[in-house]
Amino acid sequence: MKYLKICIHILIVIFLTVLTQVGGLIWITVFGFFKYRKSAWSKRKRLLSFSVIYLLCVAFIVPNLAPLNHRKALPAFDEYLAPHNLGYVLLCRNYVHDDLHYNLVEASKGFEANYGIPVTYLDAGFPFIDGFPLLPHLSHNDGRKIDLAFIYQDASVKTTNDNPSLLGYGVYEEPLEGEVNQPQKCKDAGYWQYDYAKYLGFNTDKELEIDLDYTRYLIENLILKTSASKVFIEPHLAQRINLSSNYPNTIRFHGCHAVRHDDHIHLQISK
Ligand SMILES: [Zn+2]
Repeated sequence: MKYLKICIHILIVIFLTVLTQVGGLIWITVFGFFKYRKSAWSKRKRLLSFSVIYLLCVAFIVPNLAPLNHRKALPAFDEYLAPHNLGYVLLCRNYVHDDLHYNLVEASKGFEANYGIPVTYLDAGFPFIDGFPLLPHLSHNDGRKIDLAFIYQDASVKTTNDNPSLLGYGVYEEPLEGEVNQPQKCKDAGYWQYDYAKYLGFNTDKELEIDLDYTRYLIENLILKTSASKVFIEPHLAQRINLSSNYPNTIRFHGCHAVRHDDHIHLQISK
């Protein structure tokens, strides 16, 4: 029984570390303290204490320590740049390197001022340790990579920053007839993981489709203002949005070993 308990704690620590980076350490600290004090508190009280301490750390301690590693949290509620949902902030997945933070915020302010649409971010990076990947994105490990949502049109053809996916991933803008079908090519080549995000994204069934013009303005704006070194987007969308020819060195195909990029934009800067 004792060993089972230890195993469960180890699994929880691994899970929290993979998901939030800091959660595992906070778990060890809080439950280690209860163990040390031989606390008689019930499981519920212990879990509640962990939750409160976790939230306090995420709100006040992590944002003050991250700058030691040249990382800064992206805004949670600003009208020009915000996460797709608050989960990205609560799970500490909204940190980027100083090099990217300033330019991304400025680019978003400019975009919102010009086009009236805020920029929506998805997974960015963790607050600490270069080389620590933000799974499942292996490359998001140095604060210089970020995923951003497309801009959509609703059923009345109104431009919106709403999103067809609850998580922001996994609802694809499929290739049309005559367009290059890279997802099919990758699957045919045996890369089964290429579209696995469709199982995780939680389609909201909202009637939304990509706004090609606004998404192009967004990508162009971001490339210019952040000096992006690479932007990954699925080849058929790069073709449809008419982007590749203007930025042949920046708009790239990410390779079949990655995942589909017709549900989000990946942007990165070089060191
Ligand atoms: Zn990415």
